[in-house]
Amino acid sequence: MEKRRTSRFLSLALVFLFVLCVVGPVSIGQGGSNVCTICVEDGVLSILRDGREPETYAVDGAQRATFRIQGDKVTVSFAGNGEAPFRQSYEFVDLDVVWDDVAKAAYAKDPLRISSYVDREQKIDAALWQLSAEARACFWQSFNLATLRFDQALEKMEPGEKLAVIADIDDTLVDGVMYTADVLQDGEWTNAAFRDSLASDACLPLPGAVEFMNYVVDKGASVFYVTNRDPSLREVTYLRMAEMGFPMVDEEHIFIRETGMASSKESRRAAVEKDHKVVLVLGDNLEDFADLFPVKEGVDARRDAVDSIRDEWGRTFIMFPNAVYGDWEKAIYRYDKTKTPQQRMQDKIAILNQYKYTR
Ligand SMILES: [Mg+2]
Repeated sequence: MEKRRTSRFLSLALVFLFVLCVVGPVSIGQGGSNVCTICVEDGVLSILRDGREPETYAVDGAQRATFRIQGDKVTVSFAGNGEAPFRQSYEFVDLDVVWDDVAKAAYAKDPLRISSYVDREQKIDAALWQLSAEARACFWQSFNLATLRFDQALEKMEPGEKLAVIADIDDTLVDGVMYTADVLQDGEWTNAAFRDSLASDACLPLPGAVEFMNYVVDKGASVFYVTNRDPSLREVTYLRMAEMGFPMVDEEHIFIRETGMASSKESRRAAVEKDHKVVLVLGDNLEDFADLFPVKEGVDARRDAVDSIRDEWGRTFIMFPNAVYGDWEKAIYRYDKTKTPQQRMQDKIAILNQYKYTR
């Protein structure tokens, strides 16, 4: 009994230290700092704020706690089983903390998501860049190059060959910046919210995308859409892609990431290659092109892998710019989900310094 109590005490102490490490003290910039400490002890979660009485809540495996930190105010709300909404806006920072009843531990839900003020500001700047004239020029440039390469492939086509173009959807053909704008302003990071966003009039094709995909089909080739959108987005994908004017929008040509499927697109690309000659692949993330760039191997390995196939870029592979999100970001911290925002920032600075004199 005594042993059990000691081990329980030790595990609670560990939980306390872990939660303290992940969640607090928390401070946000502009308008002064806000410090709070969140701890979990004996299934009870406490929030201690400057000079105030601690707030306590019961936490168990069925509950998920969401903390809202705004100015000097901290609020917490619970959701039942299932996916808790991930919320964020310019004024506050949220962290979802999950109580794992088996491990008797609390952990921040995917702490690598937008979970700090600094990250939010970076996301806003990145989203604004996606809307810039410079970004538009990149999209026109990429589709102009794709057209040139497609015409060259047509000229070399052998009799009986079936040519195909494979394209990712989000931030390659369709602009995702409207969803980012929603998330950054108190929107939710869920498939349901993404579906609403895709269904709205704010969902628009990127410059040159509709024209290029129709050009390919008009010339007698096929287009295939390989996307990691969730199956719950299937209907809205068909509906909106058709409404925007994209060709070949059907089950045969749209490969969604089905339930249980890995994020890798290799098997879906292989399915197209079985009876087509793929002359172009379009994407905004290295994973759209090949499985050569694992995020867990870090930035250096991915850069080397890109260099190793340097002749593909601008020939078979057309890369589109995306400064908002992508595997490039995960690779900085090797997709280590246990890292805190502070540790991730250290990793970012280390990469900056590493490449200061080496390109
Ligand atoms: Mg994409």
